[in-house]
Amino acid sequence: LTRMYGPLTALSNVQVDVMTALVSFDRVFEVLDLEPMIGERPDAVPLRRSGDREAVAVEFDHVGFRYPAADEVSLASLESIARTDVAPGRQVLRDVTFTARPGELVALVGPSGAGKTTITHLVSRLYDVTEGAVRLDGRDVRDVTLQSLRDTVGVVAQDPHLFHDSIRENLRYARPDATDEEIVEALRGAQIWDLVEAMPDGLDTVVGERGYRLSGGEKQRLAIARLLLKAPSVVILDEATAHLDSESEAAVQRALKTALAGRTSLVIAHRLSTIREADQILVVDGGRIAERGRHEELLLAGGLYADLYRTQFAQQASGDGRRPARLGA
Ligand code: ATP
Repeated sequence: LTRMYGPLTALSNVQVDVMTALVSFDRVFEVLDLEPMIGERPDAVPLRRSGDREAVAVEFDHVGFRYPAADEVSLASLESIARTDVAPGRQVLRDVTFTARPGELVALVGPSGAGKTTITHLVSRLYDVTEGAVRLDGRDVRDVTLQSLRDTVGVVAQDPHLFHDSIRENLRYARPDATDEEIVEALRGAQIWDLVEAMPDGLDTVVGERGYRLSGGEKQRLAIARLLLKAPSVVILDEATAHLDSESEAAVQRALKTALAGRTSLVIAHRLSTIREADQILVVDGGRIAERGRHEELLLAGGLYADLYRTQFAQQASGDGRRPARLGA
């Protein structure tokens, strides 16, 4: 009998595992179903007239934010997806209020996990605020069409994604009707045309996974070229933390100078040159804006910024003796 029970118990264990797996799958789909949380209101209006490229104001009005619980779950392992006791999202931003005036460069600095990236996510409406409002040109981002929002806000990530495709197609992704002349002009502005021109296949060179290998600085310059083609009014930039060689660094800085000129920009700053140039520096700590001001006044205040400066930025001043390139208009 025991011999019979053995396999039976084993079988029922298998059934339990299968059941757990099915429950897990249900949870996965529940999570996936929840993913597209950002919808367009039926009465949404375009943010601005098409082709209007004037810089716009970016305003955070007492913004509070917690990531949706489902999102936290999707980051977790399959096992925890099967759990039903997932805690709701933690409050990540609290009472964040600031205005970037048209054309201003606002630098976000602060310790890791402070909420800098989250602030930028709310501008491009990857998520909706849970309290307060984010406005562009005085309009709540929840009231405008998603297409006009995507056209208005351009993003350069720290490690930009390139598709396994030609350089031409990677750039056209930003503006499908771009001509080769416009693409070359954007590559020139981004300080990378000389390199592309020298490649055996020029604009047809395939990059991305398994394609032509580009350095971090080169990838960022291609992303800047994309931005120049798109010509958005607002730029979100996550500066590279990795140290680039000084030639690449100088080229990226020159490219950014072109890209940010005349645009409102929110930059997660890792470069001394950026914080020195910023019209406003927001020091984010624990989801709040702990300090704000310009570089010199914040240094004099001797608070959190002064500490951050000493640990993150000061060594760049003595690093290679170069005067940092100037950013912005
Ligand atoms: P870093 O400088 O390390 O990039 P940061 O200041 O940009 O940090 P955020 O990435 O905005 O910080 O993260 C703020 C908080 O929100 C962190 O506690 C982080 O764990 C949490 N967080 C970030 N993304 C998610 C997400 N998709 N779901 C849940 N929590 C998240």
